[in-house]
Amino acid sequence: MEKPLTGKIHSLESFGTVDGPGIRFVTFMQGCPLRCRYCHNPDTWRADAPVKYELTPRQLLDEVSRYKSFIAKGGVTLTGGEPLMQPDFCREFFRLCREAGIHTALDTAGSVYNEKTLSVLDFTDLVLLDIKALQPELCRAVCGSDGRNALRLLDELERRGIDVWIRHVVVPGLTDDDRLLDELVGYLKPYRCVRKIEWLPYHTMGVFKYKDLGLAYPLEGVPPLPAERIKAIRERYPWP
Ligand code: SF4
Repeated sequence: MEKPLTGKIHSLESFGTVDGPGIRFVTFMQGCPLRCRYCHNPDTWRADAPVKYELTPRQLLDEVSRYKSFIAKGGVTLTGGEPLMQPDFCREFFRLCREAGIHTALDTAGSVYNEKTLSVLDFTDLVLLDIKALQPELCRAVCGSDGRNALRLLDELERRGIDVWIRHVVVPGLTDDDRLLDELVGYLKPYRCVRKIEWLPYHTMGVFKYKDLGLAYPLEGVPPLPAERIKAIRERYPWP
């Protein structure tokens, strides 16, 4: 008998308020091909790691349905890790959600770009697109990849007219530079699909996870971005 389609899920959060509009049921998928130096979820990296949940799309929808009244004005969000590492699962789960009238958001760094990952967009209402850096060299230094696929994905989202919230982590000594931020905002200006830019301050809340996993922390000694700096950035770049 054919094995049913299942998703490898790191964890579930039933009342998420920071990953898309409204209150959301957030699913953290296991596996990510990137290695962002500031990642606070290194425990989601390994696709072959043992997971807490392995569910079919229908089983996940059943779980979501228990919270339907709470998420009525919000929806569901698939995040990770990198959800697009499991495109068949994401597509089928979003298809079922759409059928059930539930808003779908995909939080992705856009690093996996192929026919299968693009097919997830057929049932996606909103994409939270993490742009690590525009410049290929800097992007490689931040996450190990040149970031080209994220920009291709943004073009595809513009073509399809799917709403996008851009996310960008501002890291002291790495991406905290007015010239770089100006360039990013200038690049995004022509895109009608970009509804919002979320400037995220670098923080060190995930450091303990590296210790638990026996990994060296790549940004050892880098302080969190001060609250007044991120406030100034948010004021400097009102959007739209
Ligand atoms: S894309 Fe997200 S999960 Fe993957 S390494 Fe970067 S911050 Fe971590």
